[in-house]
Amino acid sequence: MNKRNEESMNLHSPIAELKGLGPKSAEKFQKLGIYTIEDLLLYYPFRYEDFKSKSVFDLANGEKAVITGTVVTPANVQYYGFKRNRLTFKLKQDEAVINISFFNQPYLADKVELGQDLAVFGKWDAIKSAVTGMKILAQVEDDMQPVYRVAKGISQTVLVKAIKSAFEVGAVEWLTENLPQVLIDRYRLLSRSQATRAMHFPKDLAEYKQALRRIKFEELFYFQMNLQVLKAENKFESNGLAIAYNQQAVADKVTALPFSLTGAQKRSLEEILSDMRSGAHMNRLLQGDVGSGKTVIASLAMYAAHTAGYQSALMVPTEILAEQHFESLTQLFPDLSISILTSGMKEAVKKAALSAIADGSVDMVVGTHALIQDAVQYRNLGLVITDEQHRFGVNQRRVFREKGENPDVLMMTATPIPRTLAITAFGEMDVSIIDEMPAGRKPIITRWVKHEQLNTVLDWVQKELVKDAQAYVISPLIEESEALDLKNAVALHEELSAYFAGSATVALMHGRMKNEEKDQIMQDFKDKKSQILVSTTVIEVGVNVPNATIIIIMDADRFGLSQLHQLRGRVGRGHKQSYCILVANPKTESGKERMKAMCETTDGFVLAEADLKMRGSGEIFGTRQSGIPEFQVANIVEDYNILEEARRVAVEIVSDKNWQTDQRWVPIVQNLKRKDNFD
Ligand code: ADP
Ligand code: MG
Repeated sequence: MNKRNEESMNLHSPIAELKGLGPKSAEKFQKLGIYTIEDLLLYYPFRYEDFKSKSVFDLANGEKAVITGTVVTPANVQYYGFKRNRLTFKLKQDEAVINISFFNQPYLADKVELGQDLAVFGKWDAIKSAVTGMKILAQVEDDMQPVYRVAKGISQTVLVKAIKSAFEVGAVEWLTENLPQVLIDRYRLLSRSQATRAMHFPKDLAEYKQALRRIKFEELFYFQMNLQVLKAENKFESNGLAIAYNQQAVADKVTALPFSLTGAQKRSLEEILSDMRSGAHMNRLLQGDVGSGKTVIASLAMYAAHTAGYQSALMVPTEILAEQHFESLTQLFPDLSISILTSGMKEAVKKAALSAIADGSVDMVVGTHALIQDAVQYRNLGLVITDEQHRFGVNQRRVFREKGENPDVLMMTATPIPRTLAITAFGEMDVSIIDEMPAGRKPIITRWVKHEQLNTVLDWVQKELVKDAQAYVISPLIEESEALDLKNAVALHEELSAYFAGSATVALMHGRMKNEEKDQIMQDFKDKKSQILVSTTVIEVGVNVPNATIIIIMDADRFGLSQLHQLRGRVGRGHKQSYCILVANPKTESGKERMKAMCETTDGFVLAEADLKMRGSGEIFGTRQSGIPEFQVANIVEDYNILEEARRVAVEIVSDKNWQTDQRWVPIVQNLKRKDNFD
């Protein structure tokens, strides 16, 4: 054995220098990414097993738990078959006498002494009043056991022993504090050494939780610092436009609206305008539930750009939406020249629009993907807005942006991205959230019914139609089969046409139809020429028929929560009470949960959080493209509060241009490693 020189050891010493660890076992630790003593100290258990002793009277049949008691019979080992054996004894816990068996661990007999107190971890069998033991615990009071991720050749025991060796030489005291004292005081955090010790060997659960809180904060804080520093640099470096809009003109427009803006709308508008007038480049996401009034805010921003002599463009995913927005912009700004551009337009009309856009006689343009085709030349494009940003790839957005001289960019989405995710996944963007509905909206009443109850629902619809209501019926979604979707929609249309024969007109709309055809059907529905519209999910986005107050979603369990919520948003757009009927016989637990969640809340953000929890953050935007970083300890969903706080304080620090020379933040400057979260 080498003589170990504890004096010369430091955090960067290889773990082979620790007692009980040679070069050979040290090599195995490399599989876990552990090379140095520091690596070892910062290798936290990923959970703790609760080894608090329980009374057998509190246990459910089959539950695993720690049972303590007094050994009342000597250990007995029976051998049977080839190398098989069973160790048995009885343990008395209060009034209960429990039969304990261990299979194929005869050596445990040494640990079982008559009359002694013992703690056994095992599985409770309520019928036989017996426990199949898995482990005998060293100390009765040792009720929290760390569980580490291990690799081949390194067991939990080996790992714990190595960590103990590091603690024995006092390594935990060598860790320097990496959080500013101001923050430690403000949030009452454990010091880094205290926390690290308690992560591995907590005195009790309370101390472990304290340690966890500190480590999570540290992770999330540095993540946020990196983001904010990057963002701040971006702001100074990029040459954005300083759009000197006419503040009075914009204020007058706001006053002229037939309603007053909600607080959330005002706040969002001010955030957008403030980005626009500053020379920094705007890159902002405007989120708000369907009907929360994003479009009017976007329109006001476009108007502001116009008053400064800039063109603006609004890109939407469908022609129906383009027309809808075109209409509402024209209504809002009757004095401006507004143009629409879609690929479905007649050549001559398109040509005229293109030249008007190019020579600057057009103030605002609304359109589909056609807006980013090569043929489109803008004149002084200052603001670009995309609606339903999730429908556009990053590349398309970039092309759009490059059509101007780095115009300001605003993305609108009605997909309620949980704030948690928005902050992390869209870290490079600023986020404005309209989390308040205009006054006077009645929450949509949502009911979940089984297929067997469909006739009752239709009878009810019949009565509502008499009262001038209109209804959407969404046909089931067959994943990845447009042909089947169509077949379903057609069949449903036939069925409902028969049911409502003589009392209502049932129309059909699906994705295979030409755009003009779809537009016509939508227009007829708006004009009340049809009362019921059977549709595939093509109506999902943005469609606005305020008189439609009923939406029936067939096989609703086939849809994800956010899509259901989007569909539901087609109703509840006027003053009348609206209804959403989910028709489903879900076969899975998660299907049932989704139906229940829909009935419980109409708040898109609550649903999005629920969705996130059910699916896990990895799946929400497709696993890898999400860009959501992985943390060692923190979890962006569960630790949302800490993340928010970390963000707040990071923003606060970076808002001072000279923060890096501030004495208080020295530890941050020393520890900020840009690389960590961005590789
Ligand atoms: P979103 O784009 O978020 O789905 P819209 O901007 O289309 O919402 O607004 C939905 C409807 O609510 C529109 O008819 C709009 O005129 C109206 N609206 C918007 N803001 C308000 C408000 N503050 N008070 C009352 N009605 C509003
Ligand atoms: Mg909208």
